[in-house]
Amino acid sequence: MREYLWFWAAKGLVEIGIALGILMLIGLVVLAVSIPMLIRQSRCSHSKVTETRSCDAICVDCGKNLGFIGTWRKAVATNQRGGDE
Ligand SMILES: [Zn+2]
Repeated sequence: MREYLWFWAAKGLVEIGIALGILMLIGLVVLAVSIPMLIRQSRCSHSKVTETRSCDAICVDCGKNLGFIGTWRKAVATNQRGGDE
């Protein structure tokens, strides 16, 4: 009887281990996909953007959401003015 219980306890532990392993694999895949994207987004100058229906500025090159289009335009105008002086 005791061996029977141990079998189920061990089975439960193995299943928890497998579940954790799968979660870790998913996490690694997400990291592997998102890290190159983050590097690309950090190197991108976001010079071209497209406006979404919700008035967000999305970078054409890297796909990063740069926030409200009006704020982005104001920031670009400020940068251009600063560069000319
Ligand atoms: Zn970009």
